[in-house]
Amino acid sequence: MANPVILVIEDDTPVRNLIVTTLKTHEYRFLTAKNGAEAVMMATSHNPEVVFLDLGLPDMDGIDVIRQIRSWSNMPIIVISARSDDADKIEALDAGADDYLTKPFSVDELLARLRVTIRRLSLMTGDGGSDHSVYTNGKPTIDHSAGVAYLDGEELKLTSMEYKLLCLLARNTGKVLTHTYITQNIWGRSWDNDVASLRVFMTTLRKKIEPGPVSPKYIQTHVGIGYRMLKVD
Ligand code: CA
Repeated sequence: MANPVILVIEDDTPVRNLIVTTLKTHEYRFLTAKNGAEAVMMATSHNPEVVFLDLGLPDMDGIDVIRQIRSWSNMPIIVISARSDDADKIEALDAGADDYLTKPFSVDELLARLRVTIRRLSLMTGDGGSDHSVYTNGKPTIDHSAGVAYLDGEELKLTSMEYKLLCLLARNTGKVLTHTYITQNIWGRSWDNDVASLRVFMTTLRKKIEPGPVSPKYIQTHVGIGYRMLKVD
């Protein structure tokens, strides 16, 4: 992706300056907005590649900014929120945000999230060719038309639940999926015991695709929030 434009939505001047300075230093192009109304206008008129969105804005709830942008665009949105607000992050992810950054965050964290998102973006815009029936990410491969997954060329013996779960994560590579989103996609509902079952299926799926149980390479856990499939080289 050649020099993407990043829209920074943040009313807090020191935080906004920190983000903007970081982007400038790393030669990203950027735009800024100080409130929700300005943010929606900027997103509409400039069609940025990535959005950083503070959830606590003076004129509008950040969640509503996500909903408005999502009504016409899939542009990646990285939410910025305070440490204590897991519920806010979950609501933002369910409204269509792609990732989140917790205040206070480091410049390295900000850049790492941005890199993950830009990778996801180039995946979405498909410079990997037009064949979407086969998904490859490191060693796991999914042949959607055959309904079979492989690891390093060997067929994986997955239960139908594990296969569904793997496909859902793969389809959303780079994006944090909440427990609610996953259970609703797999079971069509989200009860407490579905989240418990999800943990069990996730454990068995990981045993089959992860190289080691200690530090997962493909499926990242976001404690209290959900899971994300990472793009691996
Ligand atoms: Ca704020």
